[in-house]
Amino acid sequence: MCGIVGYIGCKNTSEILINGLKELEYRGYDSAGIAILDNDKIEVYKALGKIKNLEEKVSHNECVLNKDNLSIGIGHTRWATHGKPTELNAHPHLGEYSYVVHNGIIENYKELKVELLEAGHKFVSQTDTEVIVHLFEFYFNQSNDAQDAFNQTIKRLDGAYSILLITKSEPTKIFFMKHGSPMAIAKNTTEDGDEIYFASSDAPLIGHAKDVVYLEDGVSGVATNSSLSFSEEVSWDTLPTSKQYAQKDGYRFFMEKEIYEQSDVVTDSMLGRISDEEIIFDEIDANIIEGINEIKICACGTSYHAGITASYLFERLTKVRCNVEIASEFRYKEPLLKKDTLFIVISQSGETADTLEALKMAKKAGLKTVVVCNVDNSSMTRIADATILTRAGIEKGVASTKAFSTQTVVLWMMALYFAKQNNSIESEFLQKEIQVLREVPSSLTVEDKLHEKCRRLSKRYLHGHGFFFIGRDVFYPLALEGALKLKEISYLHAEGYPAGEMKHGPIALADPELFTIALMPEHSHYDKIKSNVEELSARDSTICAISPLDFELADDFIKTSNKSHYMLEFFEMLVVLQVLSMEISVRLGNDVDMPRNLAKSVTVE
Ligand code: GLU
Repeated sequence: MCGIVGYIGCKNTSEILINGLKELEYRGYDSAGIAILDNDKIEVYKALGKIKNLEEKVSHNECVLNKDNLSIGIGHTRWATHGKPTELNAHPHLGEYSYVVHNGIIENYKELKVELLEAGHKFVSQTDTEVIVHLFEFYFNQSNDAQDAFNQTIKRLDGAYSILLITKSEPTKIFFMKHGSPMAIAKNTTEDGDEIYFASSDAPLIGHAKDVVYLEDGVSGVATNSSLSFSEEVSWDTLPTSKQYAQKDGYRFFMEKEIYEQSDVVTDSMLGRISDEEIIFDEIDANIIEGINEIKICACGTSYHAGITASYLFERLTKVRCNVEIASEFRYKEPLLKKDTLFIVISQSGETADTLEALKMAKKAGLKTVVVCNVDNSSMTRIADATILTRAGIEKGVASTKAFSTQTVVLWMMALYFAKQNNSIESEFLQKEIQVLREVPSSLTVEDKLHEKCRRLSKRYLHGHGFFFIGRDVFYPLALEGALKLKEISYLHAEGYPAGEMKHGPIALADPELFTIALMPEHSHYDKIKSNVEELSARDSTICAISPLDFELADDFIKTSNKSHYMLEFFEMLVVLQVLSMEISVRLGNDVDMPRNLAKSVTVE
């Protein structure tokens, strides 16, 4: 995770770096720091926690320009992987005369550290990152050539990283390298020379420049304000001109705003992709399913839950075997990859490190690959054979909401599209499903009454020894997602479970302090789940039932509306779970948008 930024130009560098970091804060907020190079001195500011703490330490009035009227700086917002979130471990990391910021993990840092300690280098942090700057100075001390030292350094690093390095030995340059973690570079030509901007995503670059390079893995280079050179040929793109700055629009939290905008964004997800008769995906080759004997979905976190939901729909509709894998497990299990498998990865950011690696493995094994993601030009979109964008708009709340609903609706449409291609569904059935799809936006509308009910109920669920979210069929992954939302922002222990599995162990936990959140849809195995909930109620678990049908054994009851299709019930219950978690988190006084220990785009393994 982490976000990194860099700047060369004659503007106020600290202001540019800090504003850039604010755009990347969702990627991590354990600490933040900037380093600004001024001929023979480097000014460094670091602060624990969010960017505003750093901002308080930095005075924007100090615009440090060197003798060429230039300012050079790098910045970082951290999601700690190695070493606690302390000021000492905050980036930028210093050697004797150089600073580095790093996103990713240096897997061989221990070996390198031993070597460097033996060579007399002194370490002050517990991070893996610090080896980079010492390694650079180790080689520089030998050759007195910064470019050569940087090249030698990156050759020694294993793992995933994007790095920016500045050094007093070459005070007009920023050295950069990308391998596994994202980096974009933008250039703006002014009368006084070029301005160069670096960032982990294009958001901080928009508005500053027109041209951008999204670096490919393995590309390194060096920038000054008059030259930008790369280790291999790169292709320039045009940056989007308008950034929809995600403001809160009167909502208390980004998460709340994003829950409320789900009904609009799923409309965008469907735009141009459904007609009365058919599903249209111009992005994918119509024959993609031809000769396919298996569909494999791979993802992490919330996207994994969208993947499990999709696996029920794909198998049910296409009649092709479909299984789902957690990307971090898949990578190391020596998976059997057959060319007649369609490989689908799901990721909000398109950068999730484990999912990205899994995608590379599938691609290398010759499988057809599709990515479902929200960010165009992200790493996964550049690798997969086809990209289906979810069109959710920028998601800022760390606990994902609209990413999940848009992923699910897109995957459901894909299942129908493939099923039609496959002749496993009739046109008449497809037309009916399309009518149902059109009702998804209204199922995702947050009714005032429902929000108020969740708010009132939330006060009863602030303690206890745990939560079980239970459901069957697609309501099982929905239960997983409900439990994950609660864990992420309330820090209460919660588990999602298939309702029928409770009797195989977890029911032993049942007592009044165990809260069961039961998803009881009318159109998907109602009688079966009802029996499972009765079993828990008989053992005194406190039951919160979510259902359109009255259920007298419920201690608390959230009545949903009568729908014509289980997927419409799915989306309405999703909103209930999101709002309930958020209200519990609010009552507990937690930071809803930036929960502790988490970050948005997980670009480390
Ligand atoms: N490994 C580095 C650290 O712990 C960077 C972490 C990251 O990119 O998330 O500071």
